[in-house]
Amino acid sequence: MDKKQLIPLVIWGFFLSIAFILWRLFDNIFYLFNFAYIGTCLALGIFLYIRKVKYARNVVQAAIGLYMLIYLGILSNENMQIEGFWYFLFLGVFQAAVIHFVVAKIFGPLLFGRGFCGYACWTAMVLDLLPYKTPQNPRKQFRYIPYILFVISFLFVSILFLLRIPNIESIMFWSFIVGNIAYYICGISLAYLLKDNRAFCKYICPVTVFLRPPSRFAFIRVKNDTERVVICK
Ligand code: SF4
Repeated sequence: MDKKQLIPLVIWGFFLSIAFILWRLFDNIFYLFNFAYIGTCLALGIFLYIRKVKYARNVVQAAIGLYMLIYLGILSNENMQIEGFWYFLFLGVFQAAVIHFVVAKIFGPLLFGRGFCGYACWTAMVLDLLPYKTPQNPRKQFRYIPYILFVISFLFVSILFLLRIPNIESIMFWSFIVGNIAYYICGISLAYLLKDNRAFCKYICPVTVFLRPPSRFAFIRVKNDTERVVICK
């Protein structure tokens, strides 16, 4: 069997293991459904993508992205953005956004690299529908904005706790809504301005501060096809 064909099985096994471990650890069946659903969508999407089924990746992005954005983020009131990660971490609650970040963005990338960005991100789910799939210009060299936003998100939540602001839970809910609207507006505008669907990912997204280091050592990596690569500097 081609090694590439094993990737969906490895991913499926990884997520089913996480589902089972967290279910038993927290005695909460939600984890079983949550990670089994995400893992099954991912494995199926990667399987179909490898078989060159058109729109397979977009369908998986929508299945997982909408689940996280609408069900977990809005209906279940769990801020899944980076400020939600700090919030639950400061509360000492190893749940929701903390588990999401640990699995998808901090340790998971050691196995599947930037897989979250390709198959599960609800921001990219929209950006990937824009017309500039192939960037029209060489990559620009400014890289500091994600680090600034990363620090701002940390300070924002720290200040809420330090000043003992009441109703932090409600602030977290609204920051999730406002933050996502801001991401979409900024992401879509940048895509048209720089003629690159993923300009937001390259120059703005604070989550890349977590994603980049482990992705460099990822077990499953995308490799250049030197026959097909276009020299774009
Ligand atoms: S870089 Fe950020 S916005 Fe882009 S796909 Fe990854 S997590 Fe989503």
